Order: sequence, then structure tokens, then C-alpha cells
Amino acid sequence: MTEIAGTPVQELRGVGPRLAEKLADCGVFRVEDLLFHLPLRYQDRTRVTPIAAAREGVDAVIEGEVRAADIVFGRRRSLVARLQDGTGTITLRFFHFSAAQKKSLKSGSRLRCFGQPRRGSSGLEIYHPEYRQVEEGEVHTEESLTPIYPTTAGIGQNQWRSLCAQALARLRNAPPRDLLPAGSHPYNLAQALQYLHTPPPDAALEMLREGRHPAQLRLALEELIAHNLSLFRLRQRAQAEGAPALPSRPKELGAFLDALPFVPTHAQARVLAEIATDLARSYPMLRLVQGDVGSGKTLVAAGAALQAIANGYQVALMAPTEILAEQHWSSFSDWFQPLAISMEWLSGRTKGKKRDAALQRIASGEASLVIGTHALFQRDVNFSRLGLVIVDEQHRFGVHQRLALTEKTAARQGRPHQLVMTATPIPRTLSMVAYADLDCSVIDELPPGRQAVTTALVDNLRRQQVVERVAAACEDGRQAYWVCTLIEESDVLQAQAAEATAAELQQALPQLAIGLIHGRLRPAEKEAVMQRFKAGELSLLVATTVIEVGVDVANASLMIIENPERLGLAQLHQLRGRVGRGSEASHCVLLYQAPLSANGRQRLGAMRESTDGFYIAEKDLELRGPGEVLGTRQTGLMEFRIAELPTHNHLLDEVQSLSQQIREHYPELSEPLIARWTGAVQHFAKV
Ligand code: ADP
Ligand code: MG
Repeated sequence: MTEIAGTPVQELRGVGPRLAEKLADCGVFRVEDLLFHLPLRYQDRTRVTPIAAAREGVDAVIEGEVRAADIVFGRRRSLVARLQDGTGTITLRFFHFSAAQKKSLKSGSRLRCFGQPRRGSSGLEIYHPEYRQVEEGEVHTEESLTPIYPTTAGIGQNQWRSLCAQALARLRNAPPRDLLPAGSHPYNLAQALQYLHTPPPDAALEMLREGRHPAQLRLALEELIAHNLSLFRLRQRAQAEGAPALPSRPKELGAFLDALPFVPTHAQARVLAEIATDLARSYPMLRLVQGDVGSGKTLVAAGAALQAIANGYQVALMAPTEILAEQHWSSFSDWFQPLAISMEWLSGRTKGKKRDAALQRIASGEASLVIGTHALFQRDVNFSRLGLVIVDEQHRFGVHQRLALTEKTAARQGRPHQLVMTATPIPRTLSMVAYADLDCSVIDELPPGRQAVTTALVDNLRRQQVVERVAAACEDGRQAYWVCTLIEESDVLQAQAAEATAAELQQALPQLAIGLIHGRLRPAEKEAVMQRFKAGELSLLVATTVIEVGVDVANASLMIIENPERLGLAQLHQLRGRVGRGSEASHCVLLYQAPLSANGRQRLGAMRESTDGFYIAEKDLELRGPGEVLGTRQTGLMEFRIAELPTHNHLLDEVQSLSQQIREHYPELSEPLIARWTGAVQHFAKV
């Protein structure tokens, strides 16, 4: 498609600077982009419907003679024309009309109209039909279904149709190069595009609507392959830059592990060994560690950090929330301070002189381990010898953020190694398109002695019983969480809801020591509450979803989640992972608000059925789509032009094998594929 690919839309008839600007708003810069600007839906204008056969609510082309046309003064002034063919009469009604329009709709003229009949005061009526005058006996109707394009203010459907028709003509003149290995799909690219812009009258509309037509599958397949290849290219580029080789340090690691009150599980030991090998290489490790909540990922991160630090390099550990970063701070303080490793803290709340001092110690290399939040991405944060970046709970950071942190080293020794940890197990299919740039390790074993959490669904009408159950558990010496959820993204409202619930529970259970934690508290306040809960001084902790990640109190064995139907499965799984950390049998109560939607019922059902994070993630993907599972709707990571997950999940195996085939046997196809599918986006990003 070189010719079309390189041609700006301005070269098409009718495209001036103003239209070009509007097209750019829709991501259309090149003629090729128009071809990929596919219709949202189609109308059938290929047949003329006799007026007698017109049906309420069904789009139709009708043709007839105007019998009468008058301005009618009803509740609203309108221009009304009666149109007649041999079979019947229908009313055309215009609430907005021009003098010229009124003149053209005169008795005796022949019109062909398109619109949707509705029931009106005079029988069937079409409001504001599209229409044009025709000659008696003129047979021409549309030969293909009429596409309706996604659009923006100021570009009409006729304009889109004319532009796409011009693009299609160029496509036929210079058929694009097929970039998938021959025989991989019944449609080639040109056929698929032509079909989707101009489907024949007998096209399977249902299939098209659902995105399952072979022509759509052809494009989705190619797009997913291009995406997969672009991730591999990222990986290759990163690896080409090299990294400091950090050989394993068995002595230091052994001393560290010996000091722990437990031995690593087999899974932890295996993943530690994989990482140790990666770090010793002179190109960057790009590794994703997946492990269900509570599987002990922190220990694995510590082993990796130790290896880098023992080799004289710095390590950055980044977490998505302040609470989680604090949790890491406290674990690593316990483990690393006895080893005389210097640690530094950096979050968005580190301000003024404190921040300057921290930045200074990071830049000088004095700080060996830096723990923090997004604040580590900021421009003025510079490391002296950054050897390893650890990102916890990856799904909240996009690929580009992840890469930004690896550019933060002054050392002329290539990139730092990267370790990414996620507790949201990522279905294999999804990780192939979202994380193809990473190697994957799985911690598929929980530390010994853990008991599965049992989960119950309880209607909020039975709230009183749940409150009594909390009381009983706490009086028994156990501890409980009560999690308040709110749809609103507002911290303030969430905090208020949690405060109200805490007050309600305190009134119902005056004998209990109840704590409250939410995102509006100052870090010191949060820390104090968490400390009291950990120490067992508080038996019930009312919280917002801030406790979702990382919080670790083994004696807490009961969790109530209010309005769980508002949350995604991954988030519920995370929350539930806060209990079941001790040897006590644990329970989770999903206190839902009836009535549940069908989807809500399925999601909560999956929670009750299983505690397996992988199963739950698969369900989540099926029920909500990848943006939700990865938490990356905003990052643009998973935005495709044509492909849709989970609709196209069944293509993913093929995506993987074709991508591999291209990398091994047709590497020359890789760049053009990436350019074709991500070119407009990149251009867009630059504008
Ligand atoms: P996650 O994978 O969810 O981040 P953590 O690293 O927070 O899990 O570990 C959960 C809890 O399990 C922590 O209290 C940790 O100290 C403990 N833990 C980790 N590894 C082991 C082990 N091998 N044996 C016993 N307990 C362990
Ligand atoms: Mg963790």
C-alpha cells in the first residue's frame, strides 16, 4: 500500500485545510487511514419498498409522487408532504425547512426518500427523510449496503462516503501489498476493506454487527499481529542497548534468606533463580512475575534488589499507591537495614527540603534502594547508577511509563534491568498482546499453611446478620475488614461514605474498637491506623478500596465488601486477598445491593466459585474486556482500531503463530505491518 500509505488525505477531491483538520480529529491523516475508518453500521438502500409494505421502525427507501405539500401549524410548525405510489400514501414531515425546500416539494414531483417510518397523526410518517428528485422510470438504487461512518461534528455521512469511495478507487488501482504470509486467511487485505466499506445487499448484517465477519476477522488478525510485533520490536530495541551485567551473589543472598523466619517456596526459589540468571546478562532483563495475591512476590523482588545492590548498582522500586509503597518500605526496612543497605523514600508528598535532599542522595548514588510511587517518573529524578527497576502491580502502569523509568540512569551502560510484578494474573491470551515484550515467570504456589477463603453472597437486606457476624468474629479475637466501595472517582465522597459506615457500625457495635482508613488521611494518620490494626488494638477496620493492594495482616480473617457489584473481578480478588493470610479459616462476604444485573450475578458467582486468580482473570476478561482487566483504558495500551477483545479472543493463537512465523521467516514484513497499523497513532501522538 505504499502509494496510498504515503498519500495525505489533502490529495483527495474536496479536502481543503478545514476538512483535513477535522479528519485529523478522527485519526485520519493519510488516504490509507480512510480505508481503515470502517463503518459503524450499515443501511439497506438497495431496494425500493412499496409504501404499503413500509413498516414502523424499519429503515426503507420509498419512491412516489408528491400529492400535496403544505405548511401545517400544529403544536410545531412543519412542512408536510404526502407521497404516493401505486400501493399507498405516506407522510414526509419536516420541522426545519428552507424556502427552496418548500418549493421543490411541489405536487407532481417524483421523490426517492430514505428514512424510518414512525406512527404519526396521519398514519405512517417519516421525519426529515433524506430525499432527492428522480425521473419517472429511473431505476438506479444503491448497489451495496450504505455505510454509516463514525464521525465528528462538521463531517457529514455523504462526505465520508465520497472520501472513502475515492480511497477505494485508489485501492483498486494500486492493490496493497499483502503483509500476511500467503494463505493465512481467505480474504486478502484489499478484499476485506472493499467488502467492509461496500458490503453486498445480501451481506450477513448480524455477523458484521458482532464483529465476526471473515472480512473483519482478517483485519483484526492483522492488527493484533502488528501489535504483537511492535512489542517484540520494543523488546529488541531495549535489548540492543545492553545493560550492566550483575552476576549472582550467592553469599549475600544466602545470608539474607537465612535471616528470614521462613524458607522460600519452591516457586519463589525457581523465580529467584530465573531472575538471577537474567540479571547476570549484559542486556536488560524484561521479566514479568505473575503471582496470585499472597504468593510472596515481595521476597522475590528483594532477592533481585539485593543482587543489583551487591554489585554496586541502585534499585528503584515503584508501587501504584502510597499505601503499598509504605508497605514495601516497612518490609524492606526489616530485611535490608540489618544488611546496612541505604534506602530512600520518594512519593508525591515528599516536598521541599526533604525532596531536595532525597533527590540529591539518589543522584549521588548514596541511596541504594529507592522506594516510591509515580513520583519516581518525574523529570528531575536522576539516578547515578540505576541497575534495576522493579514495578509492582504492573497493570496500573502503561508500557510507556514503564519505559520512561528505564531512561533515568546517567550511567553509560545501557538500560537498567526491569522486573515487573503483577498480582492480577494475566490470562495467557491477553499477556500475548499486552506483554509480548516481557518474559514471564509465575509463582504458582502459596506459602504453606494458607487456607482458602470461603465466599458468600449476601443481600444487603440481611445486613444486620452480617453485622452480628462481624461482632462474633471480633469477640472471638479475630479481626475484620469492612470495605466501602463507591462508583464515584472522588476521594472526598469515598471518604465520606467510609466515615458514615464507620459511624453506623460503631453505633451498632459499641463494644468494638473500630478504625477508619481512606485516601484522604495524611500518610502519618494512615500509618498510625494500620499500625494499631496490625498490633490488634483495632478489631474492625473500615476502609475504602485503598487497602486493595499490599496490606498484610495475618490475623484478619473476615472481610465484608459492600456493593461488590460495582467492582471488577480483578479488584474483588485483590481485596479478598487481604484475608486468608494466616492459618485461620477465612471468609469473605459480598454484601450486594439487589437487584443484580445478569453480568453482575455472573461476576459475583465467579468470586464465590473460585479463589484461583487465573480463573477469575479469564472470567473478568470474558465479562468486561481487556481495558478493565489491565486497568489501562486510559493509557491507550490496548486501543485497537478494529480488533476487539474478547470478541476476537479466538484469533489469539493464530496471532501468536503468525507473528512468530513472520519474525522467523519474513522479518521484512514486520516494519510495514507496524507502520500500517500504528502509523496514524504515532502521527497523532506527535500533533
Ligand atoms: P504478594 O505476592 O501478594 O505481594 P507478599 O509478598 O506480600 O505477597 O507476601 C505475603 C505474605 O506471605 C507476607 O507476610 C510474607 O512475609 C509471607 N511470605 C512470603 N513468602 C513466604 C514463605 N515462603 N513462607 C511463608 N510466608 C511467606
Ligand atoms: Mg505485593
